[in-house]
Amino acid sequence: HLDVRDLEASYAGNPVLRGVTLSADKGEVVSLIGPSGSGKSTLLRVLIGLTPPTAGAVCIGGTAVDYADKRSLRALRSRMSIVFQQFNLFQNMTALANVAIAPVKVHGVPKREAEERAMALLEKVGLGHKGDSYPDQLSGGQQQRVAIARALAVEPEILLLDEVTSALDPERVGEVLDTVRALAGDGITMLLVSHEMAFVREISTRVVMMDAGQVVETGTSAEIFTAAKMERTRAFVGAVI
Ligand code: ATP
Ligand code: MG
Repeated sequence: HLDVRDLEASYAGNPVLRGVTLSADKGEVVSLIGPSGSGKSTLLRVLIGLTPPTAGAVCIGGTAVDYADKRSLRALRSRMSIVFQQFNLFQNMTALANVAIAPVKVHGVPKREAEERAMALLEKVGLGHKGDSYPDQLSGGQQQRVAIARALAVEPEILLLDEVTSALDPERVGEVLDTVRALAGDGITMLLVSHEMAFVREISTRVVMMDAGQVVETGTSAEIFTAAKMERTRAFVGAVI
């Protein structure tokens, strides 16, 4: 269970998150929607500890995260992973090594064991036959699926996905969405930012509409897409559908 309360963050003194409260139960897919600059990526960056919060609280499974404490951050990174729009794979490592490295280097898992798990994860994202390939030998969609397998390698409870299909050629979007869809049934909690509104509508248990660093409205997928209470939400989903 993820609990975010009154979270605030700034860039160079400019408030970007202005009191964000939301929660996600185990296995839920919670999607963040809202206009460009509304703070969706910043929220994910704060949650994973890349941007420090200036106020508020984050709890995972009842344990408060202390973003100023290295040990707390380290514990956080084995409970939560993030996948970005740009896959950022290590170019000099095979797909298998990309997936296996964090468990070995960060979490002290024996190499053999990490590689076995990495292979299982590559199979899960449909790339069991590509373990020996280097990133530049893979398509964008395949690279992004390796990045998702890498994020799963630490066996996180919560997966953050920030526009993971935005950098892909249109014909490669579907395979990555299929991968995310398959994960959604696995009990992992997901916080998803996506401009693929049909996909958001289909996959989300709840949708959080953000604007100007605040949550405008939260509802089930059906509520947000067909019966939003706030005009701002109706205008946004109406404009993008
Ligand atoms: P998009 O849909 O375009 O990805 P977003 O909702 O993810 O937008 P953020 O990237 O979180 O929005 O940006 C929120 C605000 O913070 C914007 O006003 C943006 O200009 C600002 N911002 C984001 N990153 C930085 C940064 N590194 N330095 C300064 N300001 C930033
Ligand atoms: Mg963004």
